Amino acid sequence: MPSASWQSDEGLRYCPRCAGPLVAREIERRVRPRCERCGFIWYQDPKVAAGTLPVTADGRLVLVRRAIEPQRGTWTYPGGFMDRGETAPGAAVRETREECLLEVEPTGLLGVYSYATSITVVVVYAARVTGGTLTAGPECLEARAFGVDELPWGELAFSSTRDVLHDYLRGLGVAP
Ligand SMILES: [Zn+2]
Repeated sequence: MPSASWQSDEGLRYCPRCAGPLVAREIERRVRPRCERCGFIWYQDPKVAAGTLPVTADGRLVLVRRAIEPQRGTWTYPGGFMDRGETAPGAAVRETREECLLEVEPTGLLGVYSYATSITVVVVYAARVTGGTLTAGPECLEARAFGVDELPWGELAFSSTRDVLHDYLRGLGVAP
């Protein structure tokens, strides 16, 4: 295929190794950005995020209302991107602490959520609240524990938010 300057709304335009221009090339049956100067290929791997669905002692589910884009103002479970060197449950617990100031203990894997239209793969655990005081962290407008019959279905942030709640409620035997 003819070469073309690599254009993308997210990520790199220049080689992270030598600062040469990235050019779109067909490599291993996919169009991938490659550096014309040094040959570096940018393999656009998915990003891995981790989160929890915290469950309070009286069975309510903790959601946070996002203060940042994307989907500012909508509700989701606490979660965020993993750093290298973290475990998935470790990152999920850390993100929960940062977003709603709760200490939680994962009780089981709810699911691994991936979508062809998203670069993110999310690993989500059900979790028991063990401490802290429910408070919105700096990336959240609000943090709240919802009864299963008062979940904000019309204001959910992501496909994974809906799917996480469905999977949890199905586990309880409650039809969403
Ligand atoms: Zn390069």
